Amino acid sequence: MPYKRNVYERAIYKEPAPIRDHENPFESMVKRFDIAAQILELDPGFYSYLVKPTRIHITAIPVVMDNGYIQMFDGYRVIHNEVLGPSKGGIRFAPDVTIEEVSALAAWMTWKCAIVGVPFGGAKGAIACNPREMSEGELERMTRRYTANLLDVFGPDKDIPAPDMNTNAQIMAWILDTYNMHVRANTNAVVTGKPIMLGGSHGRVEATGRGVMIVTKAAMRELNIDIEGSTVAVQGFGNVGSIAAKLLSEQGCTVVAVSDISGGYYNENGLDIEAMIAYCKDGNGTLEGYSNAQIISNSELLALEVDVLVPAAKEDQITERNAHEIKARIICEGANGPTSPAADKILSDNGVLVIPDILANAGGVTVSYFEWVQDRQGFFWTEARVNKRLDRMMSGAFDAVYKAAQNYQVTPRIGAYVLAIRKVADALKMRGIYG
Ligand code: NAD
Repeated sequence: MPYKRNVYERAIYKEPAPIRDHENPFESMVKRFDIAAQILELDPGFYSYLVKPTRIHITAIPVVMDNGYIQMFDGYRVIHNEVLGPSKGGIRFAPDVTIEEVSALAAWMTWKCAIVGVPFGGAKGAIACNPREMSEGELERMTRRYTANLLDVFGPDKDIPAPDMNTNAQIMAWILDTYNMHVRANTNAVVTGKPIMLGGSHGRVEATGRGVMIVTKAAMRELNIDIEGSTVAVQGFGNVGSIAAKLLSEQGCTVVAVSDISGGYYNENGLDIEAMIAYCKDGNGTLEGYSNAQIISNSELLALEVDVLVPAAKEDQITERNAHEIKARIICEGANGPTSPAADKILSDNGVLVIPDILANAGGVTVSYFEWVQDRQGFFWTEARVNKRLDRMMSGAFDAVYKAAQNYQVTPRIGAYVLAIRKVADALKMRGIYG
């Protein structure tokens, strides 16, 4: 039988990924950090303290696969900073993940927590694996062994994981269970994004997409764009992208295009987002084969003439190579690191308002914080209460970032870095350097 390409290989075969600009994700973070540090005239000692991760854990994870053979996986947990509180950050499963990527994601968590005002530092974890080629049993064994290997790192007062790309509530439940088996306790605040029945929070699954919707609306108000009749394109149709698309369409936007790993789907009159979510759930988790739309490529989607573009897939999608093709007036970065520093300049010169990742996708960590608070109190909130508080915190953070950008005459991204670095640096000064 001829070899049948899987969906990842087909996507790569059909369309090459955008070429990364010169930096890796960590270097991209540092480029923005440098500009903000200059504006703040950051003390050189504080600069070196805050720019780098405080700890990097790399662990080998042996897993007995279903065929009886042992396979080794590389696991990472990077703690970027703990000045504001216990470190917090998701865990991603991806075949091509690198330590630079995890370090950048950990730093972005530090800045994100500072911007929305939750008392956490920043961390991120990953396992280099292709979860789509693994059985549920293999995934469970790998997750449990990763947790056991990092037992001394995790803890409700130390470091608290959450879901990210290709991880979900079930995986968080396995982390919770493994941790508690080892420490002989029953503490559910060790992980967030877990199932509601295990102490998860209402509204957590939707939180990042909801945050994207809240700040997009705030930006539209600033630019006097009417929500009714506005058009939106969303790259990525997973947790963040699909929820953002659904909530934006509920607010009156016309979502004309979405894409995922299988390609792009377009309808100038608006896509039926609910039907597309149902299609993904019923099928293999992608939109492949969805027929009620015109097929477009991911690069065509990015260049559509829309009011709002939401990149919600992965890093380095908008680069020096394609930034000048962007016609959207607002880019709301649901994904972490979708825009390169070189693209920042092109977009700013072209008058595109970019709501930076460290603000735009902070809804997830905000509701993760609510979940942690609820777990520690043993008292759970209604979804309405969660959403109301999320709205208040995201709207407040948007206003603060927008104001900082205007005050310093910089882009909202640099405004966000200035706010975040200043906050963590002030807290560091107050704590002092021990030793
Ligand atoms: P996910 O795994 O649920 O979804 C990712 C989506 O992107 C999938 O639809 C996938 O098919 C699609 N995709 C992958 N490669 C693509 C490509 N080359 N072109 C187009 N689509 C592609 O992941 P998620 O949780 O939605 O995370 C997406 C992004 O949002 C990541 O950058 C993540 O770090 C960030 N983020 C997630 C959360 C959260 O709460 N889940 C919070 C903050 C930030």
